[in-house]
Amino acid sequence: MERKIKLHDKSFRLFIPNDEIESAIDKVAARMNADFSGKEQPPILVCVLNGSILYTAELMKRLDFDAELLSIRLSSYEGTNSTGFVREVMGLSRSIEGKEVIILEDIVDTGATIETLVSMLMEKGAASVKVSTLLLKKEVYKRDIPIDYVAIEIPTRFIVGFGLDYNELGRNLKDIYVLDE
Ligand code: 5GP
Ligand code: MG
Repeated sequence: MERKIKLHDKSFRLFIPNDEIESAIDKVAARMNADFSGKEQPPILVCVLNGSILYTAELMKRLDFDAELLSIRLSSYEGTNSTGFVREVMGLSRSIEGKEVIILEDIVDTGATIETLVSMLMEKGAASVKVSTLLLKKEVYKRDIPIDYVAIEIPTRFIVGFGLDYNELGRNLKDIYVLDE
């Protein structure tokens, strides 16, 4: 496990090692298993591409109830800053009408993305929408939408790894790194 890395023009240092990430995901999965086991209709997991790919994969392996999987792609970030404006880049491939939906996000920062996404999914007829995120920037997030399942709370720093990128690099890192300023 390398403690310092470089992506493009920026340096990052180790912040959350993989074993901590995995045990945080264990805990979220246990809560979801308690909440969703024994439901008649399988919920739909919505993976928010690309950042949530690793979170979705690790979480899904730990779920012991039936669940469907759909993916959606939104974009709000350029470089290391949120533009505050959320675009849909790739939509859902199937109807979610009448279904219970669980959004799987990599990170909730200002909440612009999650707010847009929750209202989009409600408009598409979801019966309910729950939100899970691997990482929550707690000091920044001030919106009303409850983040039902948070794996790890982090301070207001720019991080990469475990699915999260800096200009498309760093997604494959198994640990999480923070921008070294
Ligand atoms: P929000 O809309 O909540 O401000 O931002 C959500 C999206 O911005 C996340 O899904 C993620 O793609 C990106 N994002 C926010 N904070 C970070 C960060 O610290 N690192 C990276 N790599 N992406 C981030
Ligand atoms: Mg995301």
